[in-house]
Amino acid sequence: MSQFDTVAMVDWSGGNDTGARPRKDAIWLGVTRDGVDAAPVYIRNRMEAERIVAGLIEQELAEGRRLFVGFDFPFGFPAGFAEGLTGRADPFAVWDWLEERIEDGPRANNRFDLAAEINARFPGTGPFWFNGLKRDIPGLPRKDSREGHGLPERRVAEERTPGAFTCWQLGGAGAVGGQVLTGLPVLNRLRRRFAGEVAVWPFEASDRPVAFVEIWPGLINPAVKRAEAAGGIRDAHQVRLLARAVAGLHPEERDAMLTIDAPEEGWIMGLDHEDKLNRAAGGTLKPPPLRDDCFALPAGVAWTPVDEALALLRDRLQPVVGITRQGLGEARGRVLAEPVVARRANPPQANTAVDGYGFAHASLGEGDQVLPLVEGRAAAGKPFPGVVPEGSAVRVLTGAALPEGVDTVILQEDVRVGEGEIAFRGGLKPRANTRKAGEDVAEGDTILTPGRVLTPADLALCAAVGVAALATYEPLTVAVISTGDELVEAGGKAGEGQIYDANRPMLTALVEEFGYRAVDLGRVPDDRAALRKALDRGAAEADVILTSGGASSGDEDHVSALLNEAGAMAEWRIALKPGRPLALGVWGGTPVFGLPGNPVAAMVCTLVFARPAMALMAGQGWVEPQGFEVPAGFSKAKKPGRREYLRARMRDGRAEVFKSEGSGRISGLSWAEGLVELPDGAAQIELGDPVRYIPFGSFR
Ligand code: AMP
Ligand code: MG
Repeated sequence: MSQFDTVAMVDWSGGNDTGARPRKDAIWLGVTRDGVDAAPVYIRNRMEAERIVAGLIEQELAEGRRLFVGFDFPFGFPAGFAEGLTGRADPFAVWDWLEERIEDGPRANNRFDLAAEINARFPGTGPFWFNGLKRDIPGLPRKDSREGHGLPERRVAEERTPGAFTCWQLGGAGAVGGQVLTGLPVLNRLRRRFAGEVAVWPFEASDRPVAFVEIWPGLINPAVKRAEAAGGIRDAHQVRLLARAVAGLHPEERDAMLTIDAPEEGWIMGLDHEDKLNRAAGGTLKPPPLRDDCFALPAGVAWTPVDEALALLRDRLQPVVGITRQGLGEARGRVLAEPVVARRANPPQANTAVDGYGFAHASLGEGDQVLPLVEGRAAAGKPFPGVVPEGSAVRVLTGAALPEGVDTVILQEDVRVGEGEIAFRGGLKPRANTRKAGEDVAEGDTILTPGRVLTPADLALCAAVGVAALATYEPLTVAVISTGDELVEAGGKAGEGQIYDANRPMLTALVEEFGYRAVDLGRVPDDRAALRKALDRGAAEADVILTSGGASSGDEDHVSALLNEAGAMAEWRIALKPGRPLALGVWGGTPVFGLPGNPVAAMVCTLVFARPAMALMAGQGWVEPQGFEVPAGFSKAKKPGRREYLRARMRDGRAEVFKSEGSGRISGLSWAEGLVELPDGAAQIELGDPVRYIPFGSFR
């Protein structure tokens, strides 16, 4: 199968040196190694490019890795050209012919003269045209006035590729003729330099460690356009996405693309498979959006208990983010999308856990021991080369692989060292102070499962078992909108009846604490057109929208009104305190959590409902906050009918609650370090009775 460890893509250029600063229409190199994209490399001229590609080949060969190198110019010419030029219908005869004659340097080359020399070998005018120089060159027309040269205008591959230029045109925007004349000699030199290691596709069987493959960035235009929308240099996006695309193909797909019979003209890899390339370039497909009716509630329900509401969310929601691969350096805090399997055992071989002396336990007699020491030692990364004979000991240092003949180690502190021998007390157990191969993780073990938010320790574990890249979900993007005519920005001028917007800073910070990307969409007055615009923006830029305020069914409650209008809203009257109705809806395929305006209720509803819902959409699966049974530091008579959350904190082993349950008291939110959850039914709580305390940290 066409498995490659590294995929490199070169965007070639037939022009002169493009200077020190990265720019477009220059040479660019994109590399994806073990599924991890490196930053695209800008290359100022072809001599640099040849040196860099040769260095890459050397490095990959030295490490025993298979390398795919794509180039974006034709490897062959239309049928009949090779025969006409060299007398042999062999593309490599053309490569040799060109390499012998091209004179190429950073500031000048003879490609136009060379094209004229080629034209002279064919009848009529052409096939090459477009003299880009000031001076006239006999036999190389400036305009396309060719006739009678007898060669096809395009290769079969180009016939099938709308927008592809012919290799006969030497200049003008997008022309590729100059790239072929300057590129093939470079490939030919590399091919000779790494003889036997490089296979040129599709002319040679690709069973060698390095493959040179013709490819064309135009095939992934849709993916490039999407990436370009965020800025950056087009060529850089092209090589990065092409490398990612080819690396990300399923092996069978890649095999299908590489199974081509075009012995003279060559082919463009991926032609007729553009959809697969584009999919692979964009990471895996994003799942379909949620259904408009995903928040519908059973008819006739007045108050929904908290647990039922949660069960509904759990049932209706699914991951809404795409999956990509990245290196360990970028993975912290991201959500794992595929199981991670150990590529190697940890530890890979039996080793010593301490500094000391190693020997075979079977060679020990009764009582106190004296063992002769062999020459040399075993240290971490520097194994002892020989065998330790039975009855002898060897110096070992922590982490060293156990030498052959050693299964037990004695701590150096328990040893007296003499001239060429050591003495120690008896009673040591077999395999003391050693670590067995694979005692921590065996090769093939599943070490992490999907849904996990990757911790620093997870990254250590992955590295230890040889896993360098992880498939993770793209971070969930959450838009935050505050609604209400009374709101002004904190620090701004607040008039009569106006209040500062407290929810937005709180909600964006919460979203970030959960590990998601927050998009602050600002404040919106109680005005339907303005709110509609904000929701449109949220749906375009985010995976989830959190609004606060305007969620009930009053005159100024435009969030619920708009969601209702869109026919995709349910007012969830949840039996919970604090928290007025929660408006759950879908706007343009994007779920909207219409939170209460009151900051205390907004925060409680976010923690209790939006938090697990967002986790599900982020790929984490259903998460439940870890609560603890603790003695109450308060007393309270609770009425039946609603679950209650009290602002609370732990002091002296007891949960104390804020002095007021008033839902306008933002100071109590800040005072609290968690919530006490009181059951749906009635309860009489006395000082010291067990209550459930959930630290805010448990909601993360
Ligand atoms: P509403 O849900 O829009 O009826 O608002 C309920 C209460 O919360 C009202 O007293 C609002 O003024 C207040 N409120 C709404 N949004 C915010 C906000 N972003 N910051 C602070 N208070 C708010
Ligand atoms: Mg309001």
